[in-house]
Amino acid sequence: MDCKYCSRKCQCAGRQKNGTQRYFCRTCKKYQQKAYLYQACYGTVNKTIKLLVCESVGIRGISRVLKIAVGTVLSRIKLIAAAIAKPPIPLHQSALEVDELWTYIRRKDNEYWLAYALDKATRKVIDFVIGKRTKGTLKILIDSLLSAAPKKIKTDKLTIYRRLIPQNLHQYTPFGTNHIERKNLSIRTHIKRLSRRTFCFSRNILLLESCVKIYFWG
Ligand SMILES: [Zn+2]
Repeated sequence: MDCKYCSRKCQCAGRQKNGTQRYFCRTCKKYQQKAYLYQACYGTVNKTIKLLVCESVGIRGISRVLKIAVGTVLSRIKLIAAAIAKPPIPLHQSALEVDELWTYIRRKDNEYWLAYALDKATRKVIDFVIGKRTKGTLKILIDSLLSAAPKKIKTDKLTIYRRLIPQNLHQYTPFGTNHIERKNLSIRTHIKRLSRRTFCFSRNILLLESCVKIYFWG
């Protein structure tokens, strides 16, 4: 067998407890096998998980498709999301659209908001926040947007926005948020836990945040 790291010939080095032939590379000083029962050891797994999260496959679905444990899928999603850096907010953008998506964690009455901002010109998600359905949650998002001095912020008619955004920047005319409303539909289709009429739902906020982060910036 050729070494996986340096492609030189490996020598046989006994067997594992379950009888699988073991190999040893003299150059890398590493033991290895031709194939592993534990599927999550392969380097492409994280990439596939990332793709499946964005294609409306649930945690247990990923676990079944890739033949890896549910716990491994969960921990990998958290790891992948933690490695994604938030892109810097572009300064002085001409128009941003802000909207919020209703969701819940564990129980329907435990309501949460996914509020996010879309750059109208590039259609890219600039920033998002997940939190309780309160003014405080939206304030975090709006304050971060205001720090980048946009020329206009478009929202729906929710009164909270009027208290948070300075009047000269704020616009809440009908059809002003068309692009972000359309994006909402995509998100609900592409992330399983945000789908409507499904029995998939979030059990913890960190994982909801991780999946959304992978979808937006991964
Ligand atoms: Zn080697």
